[in-house]
Amino acid sequence: MDVRPEKRESCGLFGVFGHPDAVRKTYYGLFALQHRGQESAGIVATDGCRLMDHLGMGLVAEVFDDATIRRLDGPRAIGHVRYSTTGSSMICNAQPMLVKCARGEIAVAHNGNLTNSAALHLELEEKGSIFRSTADSEAILHLYAQPSELDEVEHLLWTLRRLEGAFSLLFLTPTAMIGVRDPHGWRPLWLGRLGDAHVLASETCALDLVGAKALRELEPGEVVIVEERRMASVHIGPPTPSHCIFEHVYFARPDSAIFGDSVHEVRRRLGRQLARECPAPGADVVIPVPDSGILAAMGFADEAKLPLDQGFIRSHYVGRTFIQPTQTERVERVGMKLAVVRAAVEGKKVVVVDDSIVRGTTARSRVGSLRRAGAAEVHLRISCPPIRHPCFFGIDFPTGEELIANRKNHAEMQEELEVDSLGYLSLDGMLRAVGRPPGNYCTACFSGRYPIPVPATADKYVHEHR
Ligand code: AMP
Repeated sequence: MDVRPEKRESCGLFGVFGHPDAVRKTYYGLFALQHRGQESAGIVATDGCRLMDHLGMGLVAEVFDDATIRRLDGPRAIGHVRYSTTGSSMICNAQPMLVKCARGEIAVAHNGNLTNSAALHLELEEKGSIFRSTADSEAILHLYAQPSELDEVEHLLWTLRRLEGAFSLLFLTPTAMIGVRDPHGWRPLWLGRLGDAHVLASETCALDLVGAKALRELEPGEVVIVEERRMASVHIGPPTPSHCIFEHVYFARPDSAIFGDSVHEVRRRLGRQLARECPAPGADVVIPVPDSGILAAMGFADEAKLPLDQGFIRSHYVGRTFIQPTQTERVERVGMKLAVVRAAVEGKKVVVVDDSIVRGTTARSRVGSLRRAGAAEVHLRISCPPIRHPCFFGIDFPTGEELIANRKNHAEMQEELEVDSLGYLSLDGMLRAVGRPPGNYCTACFSGRYPIPVPATADKYVHEHR
């Protein structure tokens, strides 16, 4: 079996400690985080003595039913939704991952990507570890299981300090729930309160759904340890923030707040800035690509003083197009997902706004359907800069050859996408639209500037395409 660590993974985390209905709350929390991962879902719960798990491939609603929820008993639970590349669509990679080691039972759920997973894998295998999955998160458990003279908290910190890259983590043991955010704070992680219970969640939309109060985001590098009558906060190291700006552009849900800002507000500001930088003089109407382009299109229309109309109807019964394995299937699914409203676009000069272009499949298909419906002109506006570099920190982008902005220059892209004009938001404009200081963000997928060294394949890629 090929056991190379999995390279790309974006996920959602949710955990509850100290609530009689912890498992059901976790189930609902995962529902709210379904956009962060649709490949597998899992919950581990404990009654304080042993850990029990239920994991499966597919959506939260497909993996759990009443009987499985009832079987997972206990006032403490953590859950995970996973989204990864197709090569590793295997149940063995589903999380939370539960093991029993000399320290007792422990489960881990991971959002992000370790950049030193290959090295850790090798080192641990040489010491005798036997890996059962291709997920880099498993290395965390193998490290944790190593013998040491340290006390429990120091040993956990030692484990976490061996990790490089992006990791928001939840751990569950029979007596504790632990939330971790790496010192760069790449992925979000929130602490909330539900009555007397503590809740940890990737995004505030999940806290809202279960009626929990959002207390604060974990600081980059912070480790929060929740036990029966005690909560402690320790640090892996000093914070060096490089939050993933693509969470704001696309990944997080607009009703969430992340990195100290409302996603809704940021996306509208991205759209306004886009209209200032790339106006479309003479256009009649702004059309959002649902759902990802809606808020940027609103901002664009506001700023450009143009009407906004619903030019596409989205079918809510088709999953995300991205998770389809082959390019042909992806093209078909894109078509199944959105239908054009002829009355909104026929004979008009339309500005179509979307959040990003990755391979170009979505944009090509959208533009084609607008033309078939009789649009007179199609001007495509994108609320982030061209994506030219792979992500090593947890966003599922394809390799360099598949990224259209990497293969083609601006004129070639306009031609391939068959648009009358194409406008991207600038890197500076994007950084101006987010609320925090620009230095707090990772923009590697746009700029190629990786905040930390990345695996050799990335160096090669960046070198070749600079
Ligand atoms: P593409 O067709 O490959 O150009 O995909 C671009 C579309 O996919 C955009 O409309 C985004 O909303 C969405 N998208 C961007 N990045 C991702 C990602 N990592 N996973 C899933 N969908 C994405």
